[in-house]
Parts: sequence; structure tokens; C-alpha cells
Amino acid sequence: YRNTEMPMAGTNEIRQLAHTINVLIREFDRQEGWRQQMMQDLAHELRTPLTSLLSRLEAILDGILPSTEENMHKIHTEIERLCRLVDDLEKLSDAEGARFQLNIQRVDMSQLVRDVYEGFVFMSKAKSIRLTFQKPHVPCYAEVDPDRIIQVISNLLSNAIKYTPSGGAVEVGLYPARNEIVVYCQDNGIGISETELTLIFNRFYRVDKSRSRHNASGGIGVGLSIAKALVEAHGGMIGAESVLGKGSKFYFCIEAAD
Ligand code: ADP
Repeated sequence: YRNTEMPMAGTNEIRQLAHTINVLIREFDRQEGWRQQMMQDLAHELRTPLTSLLSRLEAILDGILPSTEENMHKIHTEIERLCRLVDDLEKLSDAEGARFQLNIQRVDMSQLVRDVYEGFVFMSKAKSIRLTFQKPHVPCYAEVDPDRIIQVISNLLSNAIKYTPSGGAVEVGLYPARNEIVVYCQDNGIGISETELTLIFNRFYRVDKSRSRHNASGGIGVGLSIAKALVEAHGGMIGAESVLGKGSKFYFCIEAAD
């Protein structure tokens, strides 16, 4: 019996369907694996500072550690870091989640980069870093969500200042390249090795984990993954070049507008 209205699927179609199902299952497994890894990393990130806080507070309660201002201050700093961690996680899930919406406007990119630069002048002076802004020779416009792009540039600039020793230099600037605009942030700081360079845009990745964890100003390694998600949401790309001990250049490209 053959139903002429509903033709039977041929062997090729069945094979194609089986292949598609396999691909979907593999993708699902991959995402599930990724989710598990993310939860483990997250648990670790939270447990480490919480355990250290708990033991210090217990020591104070037991009278082993005096409740001096200095000890209280350390605890306060650690709690502040935990709050930043939670803020960063929210920003990350915002940037990668479905509820993330761009408020696109035609923006003078040169003005925008200059504004961000000006916001960092004080911070760089406080660390004796020479911060300069390189203005483009031609007008540079793009259709972007200014708040999100400000967030990306701020992240690159604060990293550049954070990972450059006192006396160093940081330059932020932009230029047109074919139909795109390139925004860059270059420093002569500690640099990143070739192997680490491929990992820094991953969530929770930090080159020197101990340095960041024990240093109150150190982040949790999600800043660059947020920046990447934001740039990619604009259809752009983000990248970095670096030489260990010499410095780094971070840049992102977005389509230029008239
Ligand atoms: P964090 O919050 O740790 O700064 P990021 O995602 O912003 O996290 O950066 C990830 C890692 O990349 C940092 O921990 C640091 O090791 C490295 N990194 C980022 N920017 C620079 C830079 N300009 N120079 C050297 N290393 C950098």
C-alpha cells in the first residue's frame, strides 16, 4: 500500500534527519556540559571568599583575632568584592541572555571614546600612568548602543590601567578601516603569554588566579567575556595582541555608519 498524498521519506531523508538529531543532541550535551562547568566555577568563586570571611569572623568571635579596625576593614573589603562579583554575574547574564536589548543610536564614536578617556584621567594619574587619547583624522560614526559600548571601552581601559605598573603608558584611540571602526586600548604593562591570550575572553579566566583573588581590586575574570558578548551583540568582533612583559593591545571593530 502506498499513500500517494503523504509520500514515505526516502532513505536519504531519514539519514539526513538522523544526522540532524545527532547534531542537536551533541549541541545539547555541549551546552549542558558548559552549564555544569559554569556552576562549578561559580560555586568555587563564591566559596573561596566566603570561607575566608567565615573563618575570620569566627576567629574574632572566639577572641583569637582582635576586633580591630584593621581586621574589620579587611572583612569589609572582602564583602565589597563579593558584591562586585554578584554585580558582574548579573551583567554577564544580561549581556548573554535573551532579555538583553540594544538601544541603537547613531553615535559620534570619537566623542564617545574621548568621554570614556576623560573619566579615567584621574585614576591613571593616581597610579602615575600616562594616559593619552588618539583622535581619528576623519569623523567616525557608528550605529551602536552608547551605554554598552561605553561599558566595553571602560572595561578595556580599567584593565589596561590595572595591569600596567606605575610609570607606564596607556593609549586609547580609534580609526576607520574600510567599512569598520576600530577602537583600541594599548598599554605597555605586564602583557599576556601566547597560550593565555586564547583563554582570556572565557568566563572566569584570569591569568594569575592567586593575584586577583587576594587582591581586592582584582576582578573575577568575567569583564572580558561581558565585553565580548556586548561587541558581538553589535555584530562586531573583539580581539587582543600581547607580548608577555611588554604590553597588550585590545581592540574591537564595529560597522561604520555614514
Ligand atoms: P578580571 O576581572 O580578572 O580583570 P577580565 O575578564 O577583565 O577579568 O580579564 C581576564 C584576565 O585577562 C585578567 O585576569 C588578566 O589576567 C588578563 N588581562 C586583561 N587585560 C589585560 C591587560 N591589559 N594586560 C594584561 N593582562 C590583562
